[in-house]
Amino acid sequence: MASYLDLIREIQKLDENLDHLEEEIGRLPKHVEEIEKKLEDHKAQLAAEKHGLELNEKERRRLEGEVALAQEKSTRLTEQIAEVKTNDQYRALRNEISFAKKEIRTAEDQIIDRMEETEALVAKVTAAELALAEESVGVAKEVAEVEKVVDGDRQKLAASRIEREQVAAQVSPRLLRAYQRVRRKLKERAVSAAVGGRCSSCNMVLRQQLLQQLRRSTDEDVITCEFCGCILYVPELETVPTEDPVSEQQ
Ligand SMILES: [Zn+2]
Repeated sequence: MASYLDLIREIQKLDENLDHLEEEIGRLPKHVEEIEKKLEDHKAQLAAEKHGLELNEKERRRLEGEVALAQEKSTRLTEQIAEVKTNDQYRALRNEISFAKKEIRTAEDQIIDRMEETEALVAKVTAAELALAEESVGVAKEVAEVEKVVDGDRQKLAASRIEREQVAAQVSPRLLRAYQRVRRKLKERAVSAAVGGRCSSCNMVLRQQLLQQLRRSTDEDVITCEFCGCILYVPELETVPTEDPVSEQQ
């Protein structure tokens, strides 16, 4: 039959596993949230870039309309020139024509600028669409993987909890309470082996008196390390007190 301390160590192992599972169950969905959020951000970014491209195209069409109107005006004015009667009228029309032509040149220059912008924007949107498609696939894959891991973890967690209950039922309540108290306080390791006269958790040298007390202790005694507070036990190989001066003389 396993000793109480063997069982406590088993419980400790189960508790460490439970902690790990709970941590993973908490952490992985958060990670999924983060990558999904990033994906949403990238989608919004792409939508903004597409909107920019739309505005650019709209502006180009507006400028093209301006050119067409100015051209019409210029043609109409050129036709009117043939019918003028005075020099003043002629000069006024020439001025209007030259103004309309200037308008055409300005708008055409702006159209060229917009077209250069269009090219850059189209390249940007295309690259962003490709990257987003790739990212979406990656995120979907990761989400599915995380779901699988978390599902598995939940099953393992349920099984480990049952196993822990079963083991805990075999330990003396006093020892179990002491273990739980120490573990709550230390947050992790609560049981530590005394090896070579030292606590294997904090590595401090234990008092001879405490070591002797530990060797003589029964299964239900709770002897803790004076430095870190761990419940101490003597591994089977250590039961012969090598540091005991009496046994060294033998
Ligand atoms: Zn210690």
